[in-house]
Parts: sequence; structure tokens; C-alpha cells
Amino acid sequence: MRISRRQLLGTAVVSAAVGPGGWAAEERGAKGPTRMDVSTRRLLLRHTWTISRNSSDFKDNVFVRVERDGVVGWGEAAPNVRYGQSAEQTTAAVEKARPLIEAGDWLHHVDLREQWERAIPDQSCACAALDIAILDWVGRKLNVPLYRLFGLDASKTPVTTFSIGIDTPEVVRQKVREAKDFPVLKIKVGTENDAQIVAAVREATDRPLRVDANEGWHDKEQALEKIRWLQRMGVELIEQPLPAAMIEETAWLRERVDIPIIADEAVKRAADIPKLAGAYDGINIKLMKAGGFQEAMRMIHVARALGLKIMLGCMIESSVAVSAAAQISPLVDYADLDGNLLISNDPFVGVSVKEGKLVLSDQPGLGVSERPAS
Ligand code: MG
Repeated sequence: MRISRRQLLGTAVVSAAVGPGGWAAEERGAKGPTRMDVSTRRLLLRHTWTISRNSSDFKDNVFVRVERDGVVGWGEAAPNVRYGQSAEQTTAAVEKARPLIEAGDWLHHVDLREQWERAIPDQSCACAALDIAILDWVGRKLNVPLYRLFGLDASKTPVTTFSIGIDTPEVVRQKVREAKDFPVLKIKVGTENDAQIVAAVREATDRPLRVDANEGWHDKEQALEKIRWLQRMGVELIEQPLPAAMIEETAWLRERVDIPIIADEAVKRAADIPKLAGAYDGINIKLMKAGGFQEAMRMIHVARALGLKIMLGCMIESSVAVSAAAQISPLVDYADLDGNLLISNDPFVGVSVKEGKLVLSDQPGLGVSERPAS
């Protein structure tokens, strides 16, 4: 039977439209049955977590599960009091974006993200949870790990530091022993006991140290004295020594010390970076501050253009959000992706660590799965 070209094209279009998914149907924005579930889970810290501004035994993080065409994606928000966030407010923000998520084409996530960022402005961790969930879904739908979708080489992941929170010298020494598999440690300081804590760490190990003051010092002269002493103790970089607003004082400090000063609380999004370039040597990017992958990538490009070093960090998070950040870790100089290792009830399994180096899974999307109940 002879089929005309017109008939042939007609047949092809019909079969693509009725076929089980497939590029043609997806490209036209076909949307299968959609489900979105939002829940709060309490993550328990192995040790009471103390940094310069507060102390906690648990964190309530908000998890987003999206499902379409039988494919599931997971996202997570880690609300942080420093940025005025709570689990309740984050849940409300995610719910506000629900109609956009339910109606949107997830494969066109760039457009869709702009819509939800407009709908829930200044809700960075809620935006991050949505972004992580949708990108996990995209990766699983296309059956490819996200790092591969981004064109990154999994063998180039950096070593992650393991963080030691503020504690008594005995507990600090115990924590250092527990962190024996990590070649570099990150020590939290920013209280009266800084010298005591760093000395306790040094008694237990001679590994390289990075120090995070979390805006805990308020006087530039005092900060200078402390950093010079830390340098002599083998500290290789200092994070956020002074409050975020003290940019001029940080520039003054930078002129006088030889180790890199990294901005964390002072930088959330790409637009924050140019004004920091003369005061800091690098920036700490977190998905929870940036609101997701796209802005984090933009931050990496802006920082590189300005000659800044890049650290990739996290909050106290499960393996969902930590595995998300790990996907882009081949692009950075320093990783501090240990939030999932600081909790005792991680509901997920994802990125792992071997002798400190991040090991990405070859599973699609984030490469995470729910931890089987024990
Ligand atoms: Mg920090």
C-alpha cells in the first residue's frame, strides 16, 4: 500500500502523541498524573550542635516528594534561623507554589523555576527543595545522574571536611577521633573558648584544619590576633570571621593575614558576590541560600570571573540535600558536605565518602533512595 508523505507524517505524530512518554510527547509539554507531598522530618544530631550563635539537638527539615508518570523526585529544605526561616513558614511557601508545580512542565524547569521564585520571593530553602525535587525527577525521567546531565566528571569530586562543633575539650577530642577517616577537619569557633577548642583539636590530630567563626568575632583587631594564632596552629583558611555587614573591616583583615578568608553568611546569591571581591578570597555556596542548582551554578561562574575561590557547603541536612550539592562538587575548590554525617537518623542513602572524598552514585537524578526501615 502506498502511503503519502502527508499520511506518513500524520501517523508519526499520532503515535508519538499516544506513545508511552517519549521525547515528542514530552517536548509538547504532556503532563501525566501529578502528586506532590510535603512533610517535616526531625533530624537528630549525633552530638549537640553548637556554633557561635546557637545550639541544637535536632533540626526540622521539610521534604518534598513529587511524582509524575510513575517517576518520583525528592527535595529537601533546611530552614535556618539565621535567615529567618522555619519549617512551618517553609511548608507554607512550598504549598503556595503547589499550583505552579502541579500545572507546570517539569522538563522546562528553567521557566518553571522563574515562576515559583516570583511566587515565593525570599524563601530560598523552599525554592531549593522544589528545585532539588524537580531536578531529581528530571534526572530519573531521563535516566541520567544529575552530574552527568550537567556535564561533570564524577572522578573530580573534592575531599569534604568533617565539621567539629563547639564543645568541651574532652568532647572535641572525642569528635576528632570519630572523624579519623577525614583528611581535613572544619572547626567551629566564635566564642570565648576558641583557643581551648583549637588546642584540644591539635592535641588529637595534626591534620589540616579549616576554621569557621560564623560571624562570631566583632572586632577586627581581635580577629587579626586570632587568625594569626590560628595560622601558627596549621589552619589553612578562615570562614566568616566577622559579621556579614562588616565588609570594610574584613577587607582590612584580608590585607594583614596570609590565609584565605571565605564568605559564608555574607553571600547568598550571585548578586551578592561583586561587592565582596576585595574583602574575601572566596565564597561558600549552599543550595539552601541560593535557592537551588541554577543560582548556585551562576554563583560559581561569577566567583570564577572575579578570581574567587569556591567552597560548597551545606546546612544540617539529610542525604537528599547533601547528595544534591555533591552533584556540582566537581566544580569547586573546597567541599564542606557533611550535614548528613552529623545526624543519626538520615532517612535516605545517597552520596558516600571514601577517605574524605565524595563518591557520587551512578543512579539517576540525585542517586538517593529511602533508607529501608531497620
Ligand atoms: Mg559557615
